[in-house]
Amino acid sequence: MKRRDLFKSSLIAFLSLSSMMKAEPSKNTQIPQTNKKPSKGPHIVVVGGGWSGLSFAKHVKEYVPHANVTLVEKRDHFVSCPASNAWLFDLVDLEFLTHSFIDAANNHNYTYLQAEATGLNAKENILSTTKGDLHYDYLVFATGIEYDYYVWSKGDNAFEKRIQREYPPAFIPGSEHLTLKRKIKHFKGGNFIITVPNGNYRCLPAPYERACLLADHIKRNKIKGKVVILDANNTVTIKEEGFLSAFKELYKEELVYMPSTTIESIDLDKKTVVTEFDEIPFEDAAFYPNVRAPKLLEKLGLTTKTPYNRIEANLDVYTYRFKGHDNIFGCGDLRPMGFSKSGNTAYTEGANVAKMVADAIGKNAIKWKSPITFCVSLISMKPQREISLLSEYTYGSKGETKFAKTISDEDWRDNTLGKHKSQFTWAKSMYDNMFYT
Ligand SMILES: Cc1cc2nc3c(=O)[nH]c(=O)nc-3n(C[C@H](O)[C@H](O)[C@H](O)COP(=O)(O)OP(=O)(O)OC[C@H]3O[C@@H](n4cnc5c(N)ncnc54)[C@H](O)[C@@H]3O)c2cc1C
Repeated sequence: MKRRDLFKSSLIAFLSLSSMMKAEPSKNTQIPQTNKKPSKGPHIVVVGGGWSGLSFAKHVKEYVPHANVTLVEKRDHFVSCPASNAWLFDLVDLEFLTHSFIDAANNHNYTYLQAEATGLNAKENILSTTKGDLHYDYLVFATGIEYDYYVWSKGDNAFEKRIQREYPPAFIPGSEHLTLKRKIKHFKGGNFIITVPNGNYRCLPAPYERACLLADHIKRNKIKGKVVILDANNTVTIKEEGFLSAFKELYKEELVYMPSTTIESIDLDKKTVVTEFDEIPFEDAAFYPNVRAPKLLEKLGLTTKTPYNRIEANLDVYTYRFKGHDNIFGCGDLRPMGFSKSGNTAYTEGANVAKMVADAIGKNAIKWKSPITFCVSLISMKPQREISLLSEYTYGSKGETKFAKTISDEDWRDNTLGKHKSQFTWAKSMYDNMFYT
């Protein structure tokens, strides 16, 4: 068995047994020297091995080959969120989504440190982790998002823990996806609620894509149930025409779409949701709350509060530097800009920020470049129908984010896959890029 195959089989065992397995040691997993400055080349530390951090680590090593690059990632393997909706419905297997940080580090010649970042001494350029302190010349945070349940919980911690455990959103990689998959498999009827938060939440189309696939599953298995989408927005937030026409034409009996819905309370014991106008019973649910910048950044003084009381990373939107810190950058979904919080955006942005750090090292001016959003959503399984969107961004005169050069292909009726890259072709090429080539 090849090492990669062995890794993947181990992962499946890990997920089913829920036991912690140690990754195989490799030349690129040694713990780097602690707070001593490495002798040659700048030391660049990136925290977070998701789509943005992996892209940053790979590209910065290409731009600055003599740099010492360390990726600090708390997980021991990568499981992709993109394409995970397809996995929920058995269109791809877990192996497709799962990859090794060791492969990424070995193939792209950087160090992977499996540790959690916990503190920062910005004056001394020291990052604290659960495996010791690291000196950096340049530091990049690519730690993604966290959930913000406040509008439902009003700060009730026990409620937050319970709703996340019992009805996980499955928008952060990990065991939440396993729970949701089990729920779908055992769903026998009644209402299955999917909520869509307002604000710039992670992966705008994903809740609608998941709702379509669940409705398809209900239809094909003749389950006496419905998907109920409670959307805090006044309409579908992206690929509106494609999704709304699919709800109407494909899933009239299986899906109820309720836009402009404000949830006033959720009773987890009675299994009801109270909105401004209704009390809706549910058999099962995936409650997706608002999202915020990670608490670690708040603890480190790297966040700001929006007028709507949301915690956001305090980044300069042109240079990706944290305000007040010349050598600390941020990228990926933690960004406050209005770009779509999606994998392709995070990946292209990671590459752009790598160039910015290389320019800072070379004492060149930092130039802003738009990230690229590309996302394909599944509408149905058999036949496999998809809709897609490709877009770049510009800033308006008040610094607001605007879509630019957008190509939207929302006609799912024209089922000619290959007209655009399908979700699986795109995902595979991205995994290859981040881990193997
Ligand atoms: C169901 C679903 C479907 C999606 N579908 C698509 C799609 O089809 N196309 C698309 O483009 N996008 C899609 N996305 C969105 C995409 O997954 C995210 O936009 C992308 O993962 C963001 O990348 P990121 O690097 O910013 O964050 P993440 O990928 O979340 O990575 C953050 C990393 O930081 C690590 N980390 C956090 N804190 C610490 C710490 N203190 N120390 C060390 N490590 C830390 C985490 O473990 C994680 O690995 C989907 C998302 C979901 C949930």
